[in-house]
Amino acid sequence: MMLVKTKKELFEKLQVLREKGSIGFVPTMGALHRGHLSLVDFAARENPVVVVSIFVNPTQFNDPDDLKRYPRDLEADLELLKTTGCNLVFAPEAAEMYPEPDTRKFDFGHLEQVMEGKHRPGHFNGVAQVVSKFFEIVQPDRAYFGQKDFQQLAVIKMLVRLLNLPVEIVACPIVREKSGLAMSSRNELLSPEERENASLIFDILSQAKNLTGEKSVEGLVTWVIENINKNPFLNVEYFEVVDSENLQPVKTWEEKGEKKGCIAVHCGKVRLIDNIVLN
Ligand code: AMP
Repeated sequence: MMLVKTKKELFEKLQVLREKGSIGFVPTMGALHRGHLSLVDFAARENPVVVVSIFVNPTQFNDPDDLKRYPRDLEADLELLKTTGCNLVFAPEAAEMYPEPDTRKFDFGHLEQVMEGKHRPGHFNGVAQVVSKFFEIVQPDRAYFGQKDFQQLAVIKMLVRLLNLPVEIVACPIVREKSGLAMSSRNELLSPEERENASLIFDILSQAKNLTGEKSVEGLVTWVIENINKNPFLNVEYFEVVDSENLQPVKTWEEKGEKKGCIAVHCGKVRLIDNIVLN
């Protein structure tokens, strides 16, 4: 496994690697866990070459404290990646990715106005800036994203359509801790007590899945929020039931299509997100 930090080195290595066949790309912000590694495994199964990027992208943070606190440990990440099918790690500094400010503004319409978009203004524009740069630099055949960031996945798919990029977006399932808590780099910032209590999020989401027969959509939303907020460590920012395809709000269970319950919860200073298929 090779590590490069500049675009120039990356281009040189990729020129050689590309001869082996398709390139699978996994963009990450580091502080890697089994969720990230599962994406690398999917990529390695489908491509002879796997590239992983590690970059805490400043333009997608709307809260400077969140950016400062975000966990970083390149050495540990490299040790983990050595155990996978990753061939090349690209870990640039911010100046390498943004030699000048990126002033591009993307328009994802409804997709960026709900849930994460509403509560983290500018977040998806920053995601689109960095991912489009990575796609240009790496030119992957396939790119792997986790369903944990479900709205991000929808935004990336739209980005690819908007820019006509020749990359296939592969959605990978959520990997969870034994307690059910969705794995996240931010879990490292939780105290042991907070981490234990945070497992209630998936517990309640799983129960909600079984209540769609007896509660209206609105009733279920209220039930989820109330039951999570009963826990003194947790504070729900939003819980919404949306159509999996277009993220439009769902009003009744009779509507066609897959329905997702998407949630953001504050646990101490840490903001956690999760989602579940409800039907
Ligand atoms: P991040 O480093 O948090 O930006 O995440 C990098 C990629 O890993 C994104 O596509 C995430 O959706 C994905 N990811 C993060 N956590 C998980 C998880 N628990 N299960 C599956 N994929 C995940």
